[in-house]
Amino acid sequence: MVPTAKMNRRAVLAGLAAAGSLAASGSGKGKSLAQSRESKQQTRSWDAVVVGAGVFGAWTATHLRRMGKRVLLVDAAGPANVRASSGGETRMTRSGYGADAVYSQMATDSLVEWKTLSDRAALPLFHQTGVLMFFQEMVDYAAQSIEVHQKLDLPLDVLDASALTAKFPQIDFTGVEFGLYEAEFGALMARRSVLHLVEDYVRSGGAYIRGEATIPQPDSNGHSLEIDGETVLADSIIYACGPWLPKLFPDLLGPRFFVTRQAVAFVAPPVGNDMFGPEALPGWADFNGGDLYYGFPDIEGRGFKIAHDQHGPVFDPDSGERRMTDTEYKGLRAFMERRFPALVGQAFIGERVCQYTNSSNGDFLIDRHPEFEQVYLLGGGSGHGFKHGPEVGRMAAKMVAEVGSAPAERFSLASKQTTHDRAVI
Ligand SMILES: Cc1cc2nc3c(=O)[nH]c(=O)nc-3n(C[C@H](O)[C@H](O)[C@H](O)COP(=O)(O)OP(=O)(O)OC[C@H]3O[C@@H](n4cnc5c(N)ncnc54)[C@H](O)[C@@H]3O)c2cc1C
Repeated sequence: MVPTAKMNRRAVLAGLAAAGSLAASGSGKGKSLAQSRESKQQTRSWDAVVVGAGVFGAWTATHLRRMGKRVLLVDAAGPANVRASSGGETRMTRSGYGADAVYSQMATDSLVEWKTLSDRAALPLFHQTGVLMFFQEMVDYAAQSIEVHQKLDLPLDVLDASALTAKFPQIDFTGVEFGLYEAEFGALMARRSVLHLVEDYVRSGGAYIRGEATIPQPDSNGHSLEIDGETVLADSIIYACGPWLPKLFPDLLGPRFFVTRQAVAFVAPPVGNDMFGPEALPGWADFNGGDLYYGFPDIEGRGFKIAHDQHGPVFDPDSGERRMTDTEYKGLRAFMERRFPALVGQAFIGERVCQYTNSSNGDFLIDRHPEFEQVYLLGGGSGHGFKHGPEVGRMAAKMVAEVGSAPAERFSLASKQTTHDRAVI
């Protein structure tokens, strides 16, 4: 499981940087888990325990709290910690999803929540850089994206090669026929957003603790689970454990989730060259025949970002070495120098190795556990989940509130196959 020093339960509430404000819980400010449990036992149990404070868990806890539920959010290593998939610097939000209108709509609806959250935060959580995806030829994915945007009445600019070169001269568009530009979208500051969200949730009366949770045990009063060895009661338990889900539920999710390695690099733009700042360069993705490369401008001085959106080798989120390999480095540099000639020879100033938690085809999992009533499984972000956090959390909370309601077919456990065959891009 998540390697974490055995938690000192007297200090669990200090799990986040902003420990002071986050120490407030639904049952009182600054209480330890033991104290929280004691007071909850007077009211029998938590309405819901959400295990995992990544983007999916944090938004689920937020929505449950908005419904007035008494919620405990727990994370073994802290919200958006360094191993979590939500723990990166930036994540792209976009509405282009080929024929998958469901994700175009979810991204659009989620963006409203992200913007509202960002407006309330001291530092920006969302940078509206715009997002450009460019194509070597008209492929189904692009044609369907255009069609879905028209159908849903979402803004999308189609730019031909000469318009692309005029608008974004820092990109070498050799071989590119056209691009799809989404002016409304851009970059979410991933880790900062999740920390802010959890802080907001705690301020609204939600409880957060740091601790490692077990799988559920049936209990006469609902369910119980252990958090760092202490029993906690809950009517509903939601497991939003990202890449750890297959470890927690090996029989159920081991064969259905494919956790893969992803390397990301940050590059120093040339001194004095403004063409790589967020005012000049959007979030970008080269469709490249389905073998995508993507990145961001130099946001908040963290460097120009580049990544290869391949589903890489299998990766263990606990023990996996998080250093870029020579092959990854050379691949990213070669691509960057071809498409962004002004970056030839520029230094790589940062790298991150993270992991995708892929479902068989890229659709999320938002469903009940087949054996435990009112236990829910939430995950399978599949390299594109961050942007959808608000809507995924809303759907999960709705399912918890409406006991017995059916999951959307695409997000059901039954739809998850045991062969990894990516369909959602
Ligand atoms: C390199 C990279 C780039 C990406 N780019 C994008 C992008 O541009 N746009 C986009 O939308 N998405 C992107 N994604 C995908 C997105 O980041 C993920 O889909 C999303 O962050 C998954 O969130 P999560 O909450 O499911 O999991 P996580 O963020 O991994 O959270 C799971 C949490 O569960 C906790 N946990 C696990 N087990 C236990 C336990 N037993 N007890 C207590 N806590 C536990 C962990 O500590 C962890 O904090 C990218 C992902 C990666 C890796």
